[in-house]
Amino acid sequence: MRAPIESPIWHPFTQMKLAAPPIEISSARGTLLQAADGRQFIDAISSWWVNLHGHAHPVIAEAIAAQAQQLEQVIFAGFTHRPAMDLAHGLLQILPEHFGKIFFSDNGSTAVEVALKLALQYWHNQGIKDKTQIIAFENAYHGDTFGAMSVGARSAFSAAFEPLLFEVTFLPMPDGANHAAVEAQLAGLLATGRVAAMIFEPLVQGAGGMRMHEAHLLDALVEMAQAAQVICIADEVMTGFGRTGRNFASDYLQHKPDLICLSKGITGGFMPLGVTACAQYIYDAFHATEMSKTFFHGHSYTANPLACAAANASLGLLLSPDCQQNIARISQAHQNFIPNLDRSRIARNVRHMGTIMALDIAVHEGTSYFHSLRDEIYDFFLARGVLIRPLGNVLYLMPPYCITNAELDKIYGLIGDLIIYLYDKYLRA
Ligand code: PMP
Repeated sequence: MRAPIESPIWHPFTQMKLAAPPIEISSARGTLLQAADGRQFIDAISSWWVNLHGHAHPVIAEAIAAQAQQLEQVIFAGFTHRPAMDLAHGLLQILPEHFGKIFFSDNGSTAVEVALKLALQYWHNQGIKDKTQIIAFENAYHGDTFGAMSVGARSAFSAAFEPLLFEVTFLPMPDGANHAAVEAQLAGLLATGRVAAMIFEPLVQGAGGMRMHEAHLLDALVEMAQAAQVICIADEVMTGFGRTGRNFASDYLQHKPDLICLSKGITGGFMPLGVTACAQYIYDAFHATEMSKTFFHGHSYTANPLACAAANASLGLLLSPDCQQNIARISQAHQNFIPNLDRSRIARNVRHMGTIMALDIAVHEGTSYFHSLRDEIYDFFLARGVLIRPLGNVLYLMPPYCITNAELDKIYGLIGDLIIYLYDKYLRA
């Protein structure tokens, strides 16, 4: 007889031996997660940043149900369908003007893989063999597949695979103090003529600690790279669909990227879907009579009709005046809260960009994902009915746009309580 196993499930990003048992969620509505044991949690991080309009939103739920009765899936080579066509048109309406094509995949990591492969093959298709170098940024996170890991900062997450990750040059993200040095470093790299692509998370580096930078500093790097014929890839998997206050973080840039990776919020958080949106000139380098110039990449569920139907419904909601007002309201609420936060030497670097707010909690020195405070902060909020999931000692909010002012006030109040609690515990003499 085999020993009974408590749960047959291996959870992501979880040390199963140390973690508390997972909480079973039986239903959800709006910002509220309903646990099977009766507890309720405000989902202040949009369930790993995917949810936009609230859980179980009836408009998206109905769109998926209607699509399921019409066409659930069809092979996407040699065939197409209305939900995918509508979505591609809808996205191109709000993406930069020079974008001409939408390539579908399944998630954020695959959207990044596709972007990297498109950028490399763009040069290959033109017989330019030595443009293969990729520039990325320190503290970047682009996903967990091998290509995406390669362009992400080396960390405990990737340590076991490091020998197999391809070589990437990492630049510091520019800030007020270092930007001249970063520009000089980039100029040196560009001068070699070997750089194929530069990939970045515009305005907010997410998993690396909600690190924010000024649009004009990134803009200067994009301008330099594009002047040197380098393909610029904006990974908007997290920042896309209103999180930064505009539809895309790239909307804050004067110099638009050539490829944009989208996922997470694209379906409003209902279905997995990835998109790599593409400037027309990149597509043109693949549009040829030679089969060898084909982009040989595709996933079984490419452009799944249910996911596309969800995305179309979510896009409609996003562009509605109601939702745009909510995005502005949340952004304003963060802005009003920040000056009132009692820092007590514990809350540092309080920042916000659109609907994303973040701060570093510092009772010991240093910031890392495995910071001891992480579990303490997570448990503090969970016990008080709020789901947040700190990145080490970085506490952040990224709520669904339907969050109410009362719910925001509750969370702000708890941040204040947490600071008092930690101050009393660690710093009171
Ligand atoms: N890029 C960014 C900027 C992300 O934040 C993430 C996920 N946190 C990814 C890519 C990977 O997306 P996925 O988890 O859907 O593969």
